[in-house]
Amino acid sequence: MTNSPTRPTTMRTSVLLKQQELTIEERPVPTVDADEVLVKVAAVGVCGSDVHYYREGRIGDFIVDAPLVLGHELSGTIVGVGVDVDPARIGERVAVEPQRPCRLCRECRAGRYNLCSKMEFYATPPIDGAFCGYVTIQTEFAHAIGDSVSFEAAALLEPLSVAIASVRKAQIVPGSSILIAGAGPIGIITAQTARAFGASEIIVSDLIAAKRERALKFGATRVIDPVAEDPAALNLDVNAFIDASGSARAVDSGIRSVRPAGTVVLVGLGSPEMILPVSHIQNLEITVTGIFRYVDTWPTAIHLVASGQVDLDSLVTGKFDLEHVAEALDSDRNDDSLKSIVYPN
Ligand SMILES: [Zn+2]
Ligand SMILES: [Zn+2]
Repeated sequence: MTNSPTRPTTMRTSVLLKQQELTIEERPVPTVDADEVLVKVAAVGVCGSDVHYYREGRIGDFIVDAPLVLGHELSGTIVGVGVDVDPARIGERVAVEPQRPCRLCRECRAGRYNLCSKMEFYATPPIDGAFCGYVTIQTEFAHAIGDSVSFEAAALLEPLSVAIASVRKAQIVPGSSILIAGAGPIGIITAQTARAFGASEIIVSDLIAAKRERALKFGATRVIDPVAEDPAALNLDVNAFIDASGSARAVDSGIRSVRPAGTVVLVGLGSPEMILPVSHIQNLEITVTGIFRYVDTWPTAIHLVASGQVDLDSLVTGKFDLEHVAEALDSDRNDDSLKSIVYPN
């Protein structure tokens, strides 16, 4: 491995020991495989999935039954490279795509590496994440960000990638209309992404007035309070519906809001099972699908941010050091909070 001269041998790491119990450990800096780079972590976004692991100790079948390092939305600087990687990469500012697919299985070979059954994804048991000083990643998943993108925005290219994958699935093209349920981080970033993809009508529903107000600042052309008016009763007739709420009621009324042959993309994590209006889906030939992470979204994400079409810096509402990861994970209890960033170094 090629190292920059200043690299230490140990690093501070925030470790989730079990549900609701975090500690700081001094751990060895990871060694780099031939095809990997070593990244000194600059900024890590707090994601809803980190919060689930912290509070409930699990997400569905993924259970925290051994100490786990959280954090999968990250940026940093390359400080070391494996023997097969060009040493000229040392010093590059990068956004990390936090997944290691096997590259060999049927899904990988078909270009759907997000569906690789051997996937190792950061901060998903048993794979450690990035609330620590240094991480390794295969070189092609360390994406150069150039000088105009902040480390905070670069970390948030991960949720932007979720939005890009969703908007692609929803087949948004210039002039499309879209309904988005939920004005949390994913809903807000999806609204901006739909605008960047050319959607002309971007309707966002949320139960909370302050979140609806914020959606109007980030791309929504209209907002709906689903308690005051059921979207399904408004004849919205949109091309696509993206659920970023996980609410069964929102999913039902969203499906009833799309036009014939429209598309529904389920992104929000809520109840694992829901009742769907099947005859409506049949009669209108509506496509209902989900997304699982993303494939090849970072180049698009970097362009959308560097060109000013998507603003991620303004979404940051909290900044924390490694000693305050618990506070960062709890910051979503405040309605004004949108994205918290942890700075491990
Ligand atoms: Zn995330
Ligand atoms: Zn694979």
